[in-house]
Amino acid sequence: MSSSVLDAIFIGGGVMSAHLGVMLKRLAPRLALEVYEAGPELARESSDGWNNAGTGHAGLCELNYTPPPAVAGAPVDVSKAVEIFARFEQSRQFWRYAVAHGLAPRPAEWIRPVPHLSLVRGAAQIDFLRARQAALRAHPFFRPMEFSAEREVLRRWMPLVVEGRGEAEPIAATRIEAGTDVNFGELSRRLLAWLGAQEGCRVFAGHRVTQLRRADAGWELVVRHEASGETRSVRARFVFVGAGGGTIPLLQTAGLPVARGLGAFPIAGQWLVCENPAVVARHEGKVDGPPPPDSGALGGPHLDVRQLEGKRVLLFGPFATWTTKFLHRTGRFTDLPGSLRADNLGTLIRTGVHNRVLVRFLVREALQSMATRLRALRVFYPEARDADWRLVEAGIRVQALKQADAGRLYFGTEVVTASDGTLAALLGASPGASVSANIAAQVIQRCFPERLRDPDGYARMKEMLPTFDLELGEPAAAEDYARQSAEIDEVLQLGTARSAG
Ligand SMILES: Cc1cc2nc3c(=O)[nH]c(=O)nc-3n(C[C@H](O)[C@H](O)[C@H](O)COP(=O)(O)OP(=O)(O)OC[C@H]3O[C@@H](n4cnc5c(N)ncnc54)[C@H](O)[C@@H]3O)c2cc1C
Repeated sequence: MSSSVLDAIFIGGGVMSAHLGVMLKRLAPRLALEVYEAGPELARESSDGWNNAGTGHAGLCELNYTPPPAVAGAPVDVSKAVEIFARFEQSRQFWRYAVAHGLAPRPAEWIRPVPHLSLVRGAAQIDFLRARQAALRAHPFFRPMEFSAEREVLRRWMPLVVEGRGEAEPIAATRIEAGTDVNFGELSRRLLAWLGAQEGCRVFAGHRVTQLRRADAGWELVVRHEASGETRSVRARFVFVGAGGGTIPLLQTAGLPVARGLGAFPIAGQWLVCENPAVVARHEGKVDGPPPPDSGALGGPHLDVRQLEGKRVLLFGPFATWTTKFLHRTGRFTDLPGSLRADNLGTLIRTGVHNRVLVRFLVREALQSMATRLRALRVFYPEARDADWRLVEAGIRVQALKQADAGRLYFGTEVVTASDGTLAALLGASPGASVSANIAAQVIQRCFPERLRDPDGYARMKEMLPTFDLELGEPAAAEDYARQSAEIDEVLQLGTARSAG
């Protein structure tokens, strides 16, 4: 057993631990901390570039953040989109700081500007999209958003989507240039490399935390070196469980009240990928469609241009599929059965009964053939050729099912903490990586409030995240937003028109 007690341990080497770890170390430079990642490499689960869509979620194109009003013609509620935008803006603030201080690589290696578009078909959806754009444009965040139902404009915006489509089919889109494509995996690996090189900090890959239990000064963890099978125990005053799909099983071992009755349900993803340069060169954007009517709040399919491993590719999806694994690379098929307990069986059954429509949707998605997937693609890209597309695995979302939700499903991201602030964990997936700086700030506010009460600590936090204690979404903050945002674009080399209009 190691004799010293660390200040903090991070379980999981993904985007969440990377952001919180770096932010904490900059806030309190003398902290001694360690990061343990089960996989042989860092950030190769959900945070890896291929395993998520890389969308900088800012409410620009995702139609699930602005559901159609229950009564036709009623105003569209855009509050969720405003909230997501403000939270993503905090990530951009932190990234500006990280680039400016040499903690993150050159922006071109992990973030680039990509227009975000929403595509709809049919008269009713077009009316909704127009109303949505009007409601969004009333807020300074979304002023530059354009709407069009004219074929020539749409062809210019997204030729693959328009070509080969019958003139009789009404379509419309909104477009905003100031969207982003982010390689969260690349960014996380580089942030963790910086962290591991700091005094008092160590980052281990290939080390799985197998147990988490209370100890005098905080927590004791059992860590297994995956290659040799050797185990050791380490102690820390604070633990962050940023283990993605591995979080719920670890919380179950910790005996926290929040884990009582907590169930987990994995939904794996798949993409159709196109690498034909002639096709890829003709699409510049992330084009989101409406969520299928029976998919709950899972989000709609999208046709995205991505830059992965130095190559430009198109990704379409995600398609949901069935798995019992909680982690894509290091998970086991026994993960789901192994998570079942007497206290969470009821939660799982109630959620299944309450969400029969969603369950049917997931079964249908999982059973579909390649031909059905290509038909879904042709709704976006009518002239898509079968030979240009192959199917690849994406990440796994592990949905937390809570007793208190009485069967209702919430697809958000939630920070849970022990009542004494010695442990924090992250549940849920979406909007996930895009709001990682905001999540890190929430953990710091809840678990390290004394650091922020100290004037020096407060100043450091303000330097990293100027809006951590402000409501950026309030109209009064708009002027400040425009100024800050232009500066961020410059540092992150995102030369687009954010504050036009
Ligand atoms: C199909 C799909 C599309 C998505 N698209 C987007 C998008 O466009 N934009 C966006 O912002 N977000 C998106 N997300 C969500 C985003 O990917 C996640 O929210 C984010 O990557 C979660 O980061 P994390 O660090 O919490 O988890 P992860 O990246 O999964 O990292 C957790 C790490 O913990 C490790 N681990 C697990 N158990 C243990 C253990 N016991 N001991 C040690 N290590 C352990 C794992 O190996 C893993 O590396 C998407 C997700 C999916 C699945």
